[in-house]
This record gives sequence, structure tokens and C-alpha cells, in this order.
Amino acid sequence: MMNKADSDLIRRQNRHLVLEALRFAGRAPRVELGRLTGLSLATITSITAQLLNEGLLLEDNTVAPITTRRGRPSVDLSLNPSATHVIVLKISIGKFEMVLADYAGTRVAHQIKTVATYDMKIHDVGKKAASLILAFLSEHNKSPADVRIIGIAAQGAAETGVGHLMWSPAFKEVNIPLTEPISRLTGIYCRLSNDANMIAEGLMAREHYLYKGTAAVIFMGYGVGMGLVIDGKTYHGSTGAAAEFGHMNHIPHGAMCRCGMSGCIEAYASDYGILRTAQGLPVNTPPPLDAVEPEVMMALETSARQGDGAALGAYVKAGEAIGFGLARMIALLSPDRIIISGPGIRAFDLAEPAIAASIDEGVVTALRQNVKLEKLPMDHDMIITGTIDKLLHDLDREVFARAEPAA
Ligand SMILES: [Zn+2]
Repeated sequence: MMNKADSDLIRRQNRHLVLEALRFAGRAPRVELGRLTGLSLATITSITAQLLNEGLLLEDNTVAPITTRRGRPSVDLSLNPSATHVIVLKISIGKFEMVLADYAGTRVAHQIKTVATYDMKIHDVGKKAASLILAFLSEHNKSPADVRIIGIAAQGAAETGVGHLMWSPAFKEVNIPLTEPISRLTGIYCRLSNDANMIAEGLMAREHYLYKGTAAVIFMGYGVGMGLVIDGKTYHGSTGAAAEFGHMNHIPHGAMCRCGMSGCIEAYASDYGILRTAQGLPVNTPPPLDAVEPEVMMALETSARQGDGAALGAYVKAGEAIGFGLARMIALLSPDRIIISGPGIRAFDLAEPAIAASIDEGVVTALRQNVKLEKLPMDHDMIITGTIDKLLHDLDREVFARAEPAA
């Protein structure tokens, strides 16, 4: 005989399976949900009735019901978009970007605010973010009560447990408190993560049914970041700031990095690093405080493709920094997938031969032969998409899977 704690746990797991299956499939009739989750039709019927009653699901009556062989009409179920909303706040150099998404994951509003981040005082950052979020909500006729969670995706090292941004190229200040002031001032629960981790989280949420392995997602662009997935879970380390691939040393005493150190991978492979090399500037030239404009990078890519030696050479140097870094990471972790993403992917063809050659040179064949190097096209903002996926996935698991106690 099952005790109450066990039956509550099973109901919670089953509710989670149903929500997750609908998040994955978009819409499905009950029979299909049974197939996707492995649960019996009776269990599916009982759980979906409960979820419909709680307003988490919608029953689609706009399409004519299909009649199954047993004569029972089959109606599609889907997640109810208006069940709740989430907000993503993406913090990068000089920019606060906000997206409001509904429970089904559709983006309903988007805003980019130019903010002079670098010179902000430590306690003004959370205040500024909270006031922008409240104004953003009211502009779209929403109140904090309509939003269940805010997810901050920040450039830099994020201490996820305490919600502090330990260090970021966007700010002069360090250890900036974010989640506490934003939660307090908006009344909405808030979480903080590193931006590259969110790309990895998004991919894992999306490929959840397919993927349980070890993977590294490399972000190339204004900086160089990594999201690390070990055995199907994002790895955060003791402080939440693990996998700072961009700030692993590539050349001792080498080029000046935005983090204040010398010789980091990022100092060669980020936009500013590539540009500095191409311009023939000394390696101790301090990185610019602002992000390099995309147009500047696109012009550099064009020059390289037209055969400009200095531009091409800069992409080779970038490729070497990434490739030797990946070789060390492969020797250490034996991932099965390495996914390269970020706006820097535009120039991937220019850096790829050097990346491949450096991996070959940096680690023995036996260790690297099963690693797959993939390119993830940046047709939309993967950091924001990943954060939305992660927030909704967390809400399903931590909040909505909790069953109401049985009567
Ligand atoms: Zn660095």
C-alpha cells in the first residue's frame, strides 16, 4: 500500500511529465500524451482534468475533434499562454534588454534600453533594472502579479546562489547585488545566470528527450563564454561562476583581457581581441569599454574574405585561442559535443580551419576522436530564447508540478 508521501511524489512526477511533453510537442491529444509520457490514458485523463481546472492547460475546440477507433472524440491540449508570464532581463555592456514571454513561451513584448552601465554605482544597478522592468510591464498593460519569475542573463561571472554579479565587463563595480533588490522592488521572484550558460540551458531544455550527455556551448562575440553541460545538467561549480572558458589562459603574459588579466582566450577571440590583432595594435592596448559595433566586425569579415592578410591573420589567431582552449577542455572533460554559437559565428568559416588544426595539435587523437564540433546558427537571440526555456522549465518542475493535496 502506497503512503501519502509516495502518491504525492508520483502525482508530482506525472504532472511534470505531462507539462514537459506539452512544452515539447506544443499541442497533443490525450492519447498522444500517453504515448509521449508512458502514462496510462486513465492517468492522463485525471492529470489533464486537474491541470485544465487550474488554468494551466487549454482544450482546443477550434478544430473538429478527431474520432478515435473507440469512438471517443480526441481534442488537442496545449499550455495556456495566459497562465502566467516570465521576464528575461539580459544585461550586457551598455544595454539592458527585456523580454516578456507567456507561459507557452511566446515572446509578447521586447525592449532594449541603452544604459551607461560601466559607471553605475553598485546599488544603482538593481534599482535601475527594477524601475525599467516596472515601466516595461505597465507599458504593456501588465502588473507584477502577471509575472511569476524574472530571469537575469548577465555577461560576466554570476554567483547564482546569492544572486550577485561577481564580475562583468559591463560594470566597473564588482559583486553587484541583483536578485535581492530586483525581487524586493518589483515583488517578482528573480534568478541570475551567466549569459552563455543560458544558451546551454535552452538547448538542453529543447533537446531534453534526446540528450543526456556532456557538452560545451561556446559563445563567441563581444566576449567569449561557455555553458557547460555534464551528464545532461548545466555545471555551475561552487559559486555558480564555473566554465569561464574565455578567461582561461591561452598565452602567459599575453594580450590584455577585459577581465584585467593578460593572455586570456577572450583577449584573442572576442570581437575586441580580433579587431585589435587585425589593426596591428600592441597586445597591451586596453580593450574598449563599449562593445564593438556589429558593422565594424562585419566590415572586418568582408576584408578577410577579400584576402586582407591582417584581417585573415586575426581570425587565425582567434581560431588558435579557441582551438587550444578546446583541446585542454577535451582532455579534461571528454565531452561528446562542442557547440559554437554567438554573433561571432558569422565569421566561423574564417576561424574554423585554425580551430580544427589547434584541437588536432593540442590533444591526442584517442581523446578527441569522438567529439563532435557543431555550429549553432544565430538566427535569433539564443541567450534570451534559452533563458525563457529555462525559466518555464523551472516553473513547470518547481511550481506547477506540485499537485494539490488529494481530497
Ligand atoms: Zn580574461
